[in-house]
Amino acid sequence: MSQTGALPISISGVTKTYGQVHALDNVDLEIKSGEFMTLLGPSGSGKTTLLMALAGFTRPDHGSIRFGDEEIILKPPHLRDVGMVFQSYALFPHMDVASNVGFPLKLRKVGRAEIDERVRKALGTVQLDGYGERRISQLSGGQKQRVALARAIVFNPRILLMDEPLSALDKKLREHMQIELRHLHEKLGMTTVYVTHDQREALTMSDRIAVINHGKLMQLDTPRTIYDQPANRFVADFLGESTFLQLEEKAGKLSFDGKPVKVRALPGGSNAPILVLRPERLVVTGEAAARDMNQFKAEVTDLVYQGDSSLMYARLADGTEVAVRAGTRTGAAIENVAVGDAISLGLHRDDTVVIRDE
Ligand code: ADP
Ligand code: MG
Repeated sequence: MSQTGALPISISGVTKTYGQVHALDNVDLEIKSGEFMTLLGPSGSGKTTLLMALAGFTRPDHGSIRFGDEEIILKPPHLRDVGMVFQSYALFPHMDVASNVGFPLKLRKVGRAEIDERVRKALGTVQLDGYGERRISQLSGGQKQRVALARAIVFNPRILLMDEPLSALDKKLREHMQIELRHLHEKLGMTTVYVTHDQREALTMSDRIAVINHGKLMQLDTPRTIYDQPANRFVADFLGESTFLQLEEKAGKLSFDGKPVKVRALPGGSNAPILVLRPERLVVTGEAAARDMNQFKAEVTDLVYQGDSSLMYARLADGTEVAVRAGTRTGAAIENVAVGDAISLGLHRDDTVVIRDE
């Protein structure tokens, strides 16, 4: 498929209210040319509203949206050069696969022979060669999603928008399609804005993630930084399993249960410091832990075997219950503890995340 070149997107001060609801609250977001950007947030956070504003189906109350150098906020959807994949597929059930995929070209008055050729190529790109004459009702969920994708890319748009496109698929197929979409993006190079409420999907697919809550941008960064260095409690809570441990702070020194806590970084501010504990970053330690290892006394309260990993729940000195996840290899430390045991939990300084409560 020939490339027409990707475009950067510049969103600035975009606001949309529905009555009392701030669906979008003064959103600024710069998306690079060719980038795979994911909008991640809980249901009702404003993801679809932002995507619809990019597509042209929703008119913001204020703000500016530029594709490249061009302000497009007043431009109708069909003139925006944007491919769109909806959660519901939105295919035409009475048309066959080829007519569905060729529809955007027909709208654009492309000639019959060229439509046929481009539809054939687009179906090849989504690995549906030879499916042109099938009826939509004869396809599986995953195949329907591929048809929707082929229709979105058939006219070589410079921007591709996808709203929870995999949410109707079962877990195995969804995970397979995540990797496939990622590869397709690498091949086509379109600037892509992808919406999901699934944190693992966002971590798997994105160049960068924009975390959104109540119509506001909470954090914008690479998957690794979003996960390892959450900017606030909302992001720490939404990505990964997190337990929050209140620390004491005196003259810039942190402690818990009377013992110093060594941290990688301490953000500025006057609010109480909180240590974010993630199950996969905690370990059961022996007496002689490494120098950079923080140790917390705990009592084992529950053990759960989950096949590929085990979960241990333990209570800390202040009553906080934390989860510890570990592999199930024979001899793994977590396999040798029992409910009621007094243990020591280790957290390496480099694995610490401290936030300040808002
Ligand atoms: P998300 O896609 O993140 O689940 P939406 O963008 O669909 O969230 O919605 C954001 C907020 O705006 C929600 O509170 C939703 O109820 C509200 N909203 C969205 N569209 C409309 C609409 N057409 N009329 C009234 N309220 C709406
Ligand atoms: Mg939505």
